[in-house]
Amino acid sequence: MLKVLKGRVKRFEGLKEEIIDRNLCSYCGACVSFCEHLELGPNAPMLKEECPLDKEGVLKCSENGTCYDICPMTETDIEGLEETFLDPEGMRDEHFGIYKKSIAGKTSIEGQDGGVVTSMLVAGVEKELFDCVIVAERVEGYNAVPKIAEDVDTIKKAKGTKYVQCPMVSKIGEAVKRGKRRIAIVGTACEIRAVRKIQSVLLKEVPQIGITTVGLFCFESFYCDKFVNETKELLGIDLSSASKIQIAKGECEVTVKGRHYKTKITNLEEIVRDSCRYCDDFTARLADISVGSVGSAEGYCTVIVRSERGEQLLDLIEFARGEVNKEEISKIVRYKKVKIEDRI
Ligand SMILES: Cc1cc2nc3c(=O)[nH]c(=O)nc-3n(C[C@H](O)[C@H](O)[C@H](O)COP(=O)(O)OP(=O)(O)OC[C@H]3O[C@@H](n4cnc5c(N)ncnc54)[C@H](O)[C@@H]3O)c2cc1C
Ligand code: SF4
Ligand code: SF4
Ligand code: SF4
Repeated sequence: MLKVLKGRVKRFEGLKEEIIDRNLCSYCGACVSFCEHLELGPNAPMLKEECPLDKEGVLKCSENGTCYDICPMTETDIEGLEETFLDPEGMRDEHFGIYKKSIAGKTSIEGQDGGVVTSMLVAGVEKELFDCVIVAERVEGYNAVPKIAEDVDTIKKAKGTKYVQCPMVSKIGEAVKRGKRRIAIVGTACEIRAVRKIQSVLLKEVPQIGITTVGLFCFESFYCDKFVNETKELLGIDLSSASKIQIAKGECEVTVKGRHYKTKITNLEEIVRDSCRYCDDFTARLADISVGSVGSAEGYCTVIVRSERGEQLLDLIEFARGEVNKEEISKIVRYKKVKIEDRI
């Protein structure tokens, strides 16, 4: 994350100046989740009307402006959040973050990789650990929208990775307003960071709201419209008819009607979201449990358990076990950091 301007009350004006106008908004949706004066535009939030720095809202606005304080891209006390939410006895690794254990797993659900995320969310709802789960549902064309799922079918329908930013955190406020108290959310590192900031800024004094965070490894995400256009140009395909997209080992592979179309990931450099160019968190270091494909054999997920809550969730499911290659993960983490340093 970049250093920010200091010394005055920030509110939406500060958020706009430091994050949005510098193209650092990751489109997580956190800021619009709790403020009725904001709405999401196509690529960033905007004010519907003038910001009143509304201290009397549903969950009252913080001194600096809630939107500013919960944004994952403003200055964040990562260590403080690790201390608050992760296992104090956990191991510390420069590249993994804090963790209790790491394991490779493959479940009976055919997900993006080993289906661990969908299996855990399904089990969490079936065993009444959660009132609802926030997932990313694919919609017409190739886009994704966040959805509050309360049943197994909706969770299963949302399986599979959409390599575009989906404003997952925008749904937390709605879930709370709808009376949900045990909420699970899936998200990339920036989204999980926003959830942790919401928990520590807004929900600190509302202990009855428990949020379980399932983080996804994430190297980058794409601007949706540009991804659709670029794959049409490079591969001659219509992304809306893709049954699966897999990005791994330097390649993007799109499956359309059983045929596989590939391009090097370097060909997609121009369509990466600008915020991702400055993001140094590959493994979602603040999540209760993080899941990705790097570090495991094909068809398996790499799972990093970081808290008691994460362990409880993993214990709910059956899966075939495999070995994790930690060096593969460290390599990507190092590469992501080097790319940022080259840009700053
Ligand atoms: C933008 C993005 C980039 C990623 N990059 C990498 C990478 O570089 N290396 C790596 O190892 N792994 C990466 N992953 C994670 C990987 O693709 C799988 O999601 C992960 O391995 C879990 O596999 P699974 O079989 O358990 O998933 P599934 O069981 O299929 O479940 C996937 C879950 O992810 C949710 N989801 C899908 N798209 C999004 C989205 N855009 N935002 C939030 N939630 C979403 C779905 O709602 C579903 O609940 C990325 C994920 C995303 C979203
Ligand atoms: S969250 Fe607070 S500071 Fe931000 S736009 Fe809303 S009222 Fe203004
Ligand atoms: S909170 Fe999320 S959506 Fe709002 S400005 Fe920050 S990154 Fe963008
Ligand atoms: S690379 Fe970082 S900023 Fe971009 S979507 Fe992934 S976690 Fe968010």
